[in-house]
Amino acid sequence: MKIIHTVSDLNAALAPARDKGFSIGFVPTMGALHKGHLSLVERCVENNDICVASIFVNPTQFNDKKDLAAYPRTPEKDCALLATAGCHIVFAPSEEEMYPVPDERVFALGDVADVMEGRHRPGHFNGVAQIVSKLFAIVNPQRAYFGEKDFQQIAVIKAMAAQLNLNVEIIACPIIREDDGLAMSSRNTRLTPQERLAAPRIAQALRESAHLYPSKPIREAKDYVLEILAGEPMINVEYFEIVNGLTLQPLNEWADNNFAVGCIAAWCGNVRLIDNIIYNK
Ligand code: AMP
Repeated sequence: MKIIHTVSDLNAALAPARDKGFSIGFVPTMGALHKGHLSLVERCVENNDICVASIFVNPTQFNDKKDLAAYPRTPEKDCALLATAGCHIVFAPSEEEMYPVPDERVFALGDVADVMEGRHRPGHFNGVAQIVSKLFAIVNPQRAYFGEKDFQQIAVIKAMAAQLNLNVEIIACPIIREDDGLAMSSRNTRLTPQERLAAPRIAQALRESAHLYPSKPIREAKDYVLEILAGEPMINVEYFEIVNGLTLQPLNEWADNNFAVGCIAAWCGNVRLIDNIIYNK
């Protein structure tokens, strides 16, 4: 596995593969890797001739500078994990390499970016669109792999790729969870032992709410999750919405749609966690 830090070195490393017409798959990450990330890499390795993974903590997508400063960074361990997962090339650029000049682009990402994460983290998705569009331009993959843990992000990336007429297939991969149901996340390492014990209640509440589909009204499923988590002193829900999985807009009735997804953001202590459940797919 090659570890590459500059765009020109990456171009040189990929040139032979491009010449031979090899397929290139790409997994963008912010590092502090866990089995969720590795599941994307394994799928990428399986379905492409070359797998490129990037590690870059992108400052423009952090609306909260404290979150950026506290974001875990474990580059050596990440590279060891990527090598065991079969990754061929790690692209780990510096901030200067990715932003040689400030990126002032403002993406019109449409309604999918205006709700939930878009509303609660102003500028976040624009930053995601900036960095992912740059990485797509550099790597030029046929396929790119994203986790459904960041469910809304996938819709935003698709909107960005459509807007820029990019010829890349966006592949959504299922959420990988800890044994107690907690969605794996780089931020989980920042939970105190007590918070770590409470955090799985988020996933459990989502899972239990699925018992109300489709016999009870959506309102009841929403209230169920909110009430269960209101009883957890360590957890503060920022939002919980049941939305159309394609448009990301709130649903009023299950019958309005055959792709209903419950998306949650909740604070566990000082750590902001997101998770979701697909009710009917
Ligand atoms: P991040 O490093 O948090 O930017 O995540 C990089 C990619 O890994 C994104 O596409 C995430 O959705 C995905 N990812 C993060 N956690 C998980 C998980 N628990 N299961 C599956 N994919 C994940």
